[in-house]
Amino acid sequence: MKERYKRDLSKFESLKYWEKKTLSAYIKEWAEKYGDKTAVIADDYDLTYSEMDSLSDERAFGLSELGLKKGDTAAIQLPNSAEYVITLFALYKLGVKPVLVLPAHREAELNSIMETAAPKVYIIPDKYMGYEYLPLAKKLQAQHSCLKYIIVDGEIDGDDSTVIALEDITAENGELPETDPYDTLHYLLSGGSTGVPKLIARTHSDYMYLCRLCCDRCELTADDVYLVALPCEHNFPTGDPGFLGVMDVGGTAVFCSHISPDEVLDKITEYEVTVTALVPTMVSMCIDMLEIDDDFDISSLRILQVGGSVFDDSAAERAIEAFGDTVIMQVFGTSEGLIITTLLDDSREYIKKYQGKALPDEFIGEECEITEIRIVDSEDNDVPDGEYGELICKGPYIIDSYYGLGDADLSSFTKDGFYRTGDKAMRTAEGYYKFVGRIKEQINRAGEKIMPAELEEHLCMYGRVQDAAVIGVPDPEIGNKIYAFMVSADADEVTMEEIFEHLTKKGVARYKFPDRCITLDALPLTAVGKKDAKKLLTIAENEG
Ligand code: AMP
Repeated sequence: MKERYKRDLSKFESLKYWEKKTLSAYIKEWAEKYGDKTAVIADDYDLTYSEMDSLSDERAFGLSELGLKKGDTAAIQLPNSAEYVITLFALYKLGVKPVLVLPAHREAELNSIMETAAPKVYIIPDKYMGYEYLPLAKKLQAQHSCLKYIIVDGEIDGDDSTVIALEDITAENGELPETDPYDTLHYLLSGGSTGVPKLIARTHSDYMYLCRLCCDRCELTADDVYLVALPCEHNFPTGDPGFLGVMDVGGTAVFCSHISPDEVLDKITEYEVTVTALVPTMVSMCIDMLEIDDDFDISSLRILQVGGSVFDDSAAERAIEAFGDTVIMQVFGTSEGLIITTLLDDSREYIKKYQGKALPDEFIGEECEITEIRIVDSEDNDVPDGEYGELICKGPYIIDSYYGLGDADLSSFTKDGFYRTGDKAMRTAEGYYKFVGRIKEQINRAGEKIMPAELEEHLCMYGRVQDAAVIGVPDPEIGNKIYAFMVSADADEVTMEEIFEHLTKKGVARYKFPDRCITLDALPLTAVGKKDAKKLLTIAENEG
């Protein structure tokens, strides 16, 4: 546990929603309190609270027989399903730390995760959205000796004893170790800075503290039905309040398995969903569908949380109109911790204009003093209310370093432990925040984060590319499009097809592929010889 965390612990322990309790204890308590009530509705199967507890025990015993023990790490990359919940909870119970790998991550990302986290097992589906995961898993296993087992949800063939079917990992009896609430619950992945996704270690106590604050903001009760409409390895649908939040109040979590607007609207209609969380692009696709199809019934939907990337005033206005009685809750969220949301009783004007207030807020008395948020200029001086700067923050549920990177990472954290979000924001005198984009270079494409430097590096590895520059170009539908400018090594145009083929071969996640490829004779440079992003943006706008 970090020094700062230890030092402030007595303060944290006095907070209203802070519990010195492991997820294992939460899951047991939920089973006792909510027993036969449905906890999970998913395309593979449904689960009551009691089943969720007993099946995750059995899976934990099975994983333990395989040799997994407290302190180990596991990479989990399953699609949204009951199997995901059971397996995740089994890992929590064993004190094995899961790295939550997005289904879209491929070889490039996985290689760096294997190096940093050294997982003992890698848990994958056989096939999801047309992609077969086992060949990649075997390749990774050959390169990373840490990886003892590949566990597959689905078909396996051959007689490799290190490849095991998930359904076979179960045992009736066994023992669960004592786990520590201040130990790592799971590792979330940061958007990354140079192609290496950084690991965000969140503890049992800090994660559930924030989750319960989010439940409070949403006034969640046992009558709520929460729809997991984003990949469940993301922080937003897991803990803000996400499926863990709705379970904590005894409601039901419904899982979308393929995550399309029609599946989202179908499931809201069929299960009378009351709360869900979407990224702005998905909101706009859902509205388009609602306009052409009146078979959907969204009247049950109490709250639509929208976050992950900038939701501008006009998009928010359109959502407020289209979703009628549903309250739109803007959410600014980071996997590193900080969450800011609008309030249920905020006016339309405020919901349109702001991302909201920080958690906890002044309604919870002294607690707000413990979460410190500053808006600073490039020299880290505070700027007055109403002016834009970078938002930096520190608090009980906000990390103060990335796993394994120590205190030296001054581009992500200040010397005194504030997390630099890299986001451009302002605060009003009333404590409402507005975000307008990035100060750091990261591109946000429909909620997925891409670092230009990472993609540039991949592009330059292609033989025909001599130099490359990548920028985000504002787009009304998806926030930003990825434009790749390249100088070709042989004066011939570099085509989108060959770049796609190259990136696929390199195993780069599909969401990082450029939307446009433009070949230039030379990259425009600033006076100090840096790639001139402003000139590139002008070229992009002229090219369309
Ligand atoms: P992640 O690491 O995937 O949790 O993404 C966190 C980042 O997403 C933030 O630092 C912001 O750049 C962006 N983000 C999340 N929510 C919003 C929002 N409501 N408005 C603008 N940017 C957002």
